[in-house]
Amino acid sequence: MSLLELRNLTVTYPGGAAAVRGVDLSVAAGEKLGIAGESGCGKSTLALAALRLLPVGTEVGGQILLDGEDILTMRWGRVRAVRWAGASIVFQGAMHSLNPVHRVGEQIAEPILLHNGATPAAARKRTGELLEQVGLPAARASAYPHELSGGQRQRVMIAMALACDPRLVVADEPTTALDVMIQAQILRLIERLVSEQNVALVMISHDLAVLADTCDRLAVMYAGRVVEEGPARAVHENAQHPYAQALSGAFPRIGDPASRFAPRGLPGDPPDPFALPAGCAFHPRCPVSLPECATEDQPLRTAEPGRVAACVHVRAPDGAAGPVRTAGTVRDDTAVRDDGTVRDDAAADHATEPENTGSTS
Ligand code: ADP
Ligand code: MG
Repeated sequence: MSLLELRNLTVTYPGGAAAVRGVDLSVAAGEKLGIAGESGCGKSTLALAALRLLPVGTEVGGQILLDGEDILTMRWGRVRAVRWAGASIVFQGAMHSLNPVHRVGEQIAEPILLHNGATPAAARKRTGELLEQVGLPAARASAYPHELSGGQRQRVMIAMALACDPRLVVADEPTTALDVMIQAQILRLIERLVSEQNVALVMISHDLAVLADTCDRLAVMYAGRVVEEGPARAVHENAQHPYAQALSGAFPRIGDPASRFAPRGLPGDPPDPFALPAGCAFHPRCPVSLPECATEDQPLRTAEPGRVAACVHVRAPDGAAGPVRTAGTVRDDTAVRDDGTVRDDAAADHATEPENTGSTS
C-alpha cells in the first residue's frame, strides 16, 4: 500500500484560483518522489494540502490518504498529531520559518516535548542527536537563528522535520535560497537521512536535474496538473511531454537551427489560474502543438509501462504514433512548421483515448 496517496486532488483558493486540478500521485514507504515545474504550477499548494496547511476558505476536493487515512476528513487533533509524527515539511527559506527570538535547540525540542511526551532532559538529548545527524555540533542548540548561516539554518529545519520520526518528509524547494555548493550538501543530507530511516520523501523543485539526481520517480506539474510521471532518470533523460522536455533542457528544435531554444529558454510564463487557456494548458507555449490542443484537454496517456504523459503526441508503444522525441533525438524538422506546430500526419485519432483520469473543478 502507498504511504501517501493523492486521489483526484483539487485545490481552489478563495477568489477562485484553481491551483491544483485533479492530481493523482502516490509515494510508497521509503520512496523518493520528485515534483518539478516552474513557479506557479501548484507544487507548494500540493505540499500544503498534504499537511492540511492551506488558508481558511480554500476548497479542497478529492482524497489525501496517509496510510489509508484521509487527511481531509480527519479531526484537527488527529491532523496535528499526524503533522509531526506522520508527515512533516521542510520549507524553502528556513530563515523565515524559524522563530528569531528562540534558540534553535528549543525550536527542535518543542515538537518532541509536545508530540512525543518526552521529558525536558530526553528532549534535550534527542535535540543534540538530531543536530549531529544533520552535521551540526550539538552545542549549536543554544544558538539563535541569526547566528547561523543559511545552510546551517536549513540543517536545523531538517532536524526539526525529523524530530518526531515521521514516515513522510515533504521538502518544498529546500535548497533554493542557498548557494550552489551548500545546495548539493543539503540535498545529499536529505537523501541520506531519508534512505537511512526509510522515510518517504516528496522533494519539490523547479530544477528537474536536481530531482533526477535525488529521487526515484519524478512528476512534472504544469498549471495545476501532472503532465508527466515516471522513473526519475527516464523522465529527465527522455522526457515525453514538451513541457518536461523544456525543463530537462532538451527542448525540441524548431525550424531554423539558429532558433533553437536555449536550455530552460522556454518563452512565456505558466498561465494564471484565473485565466487558464482552453484545451491543453501548455498549448500556447508549446512548439509542437496541434490544432486540437487548443480545444481538447489532453489526458495522461501511457507512454511506456510505468510512464505517463499528457500530450497528444504520446502513444503507447503499440499505438498509432510515437512520442514527440525518443532516445534523445528530435522529431524530424520537416514535420514542424515555422510557427512551431507540427504537420498533421503524425496526429492520430485521439478521440478513442480514455477519458482524463484527473477531472477539473
Ligand atoms: P508553485 O509552488 O509551483 O510555485 P504555488 O502552489 O505556490 O505554485 O501556486 C500555484 C498558484 O496558486 C499560483 O498561481 C499562485 O499565485 C496561487 N496561489 C498560491 N497561494 C495562494 C493563496 N494563498 N491565495 C490565492 N492564490 C494563491
Ligand atoms: Mg512553491
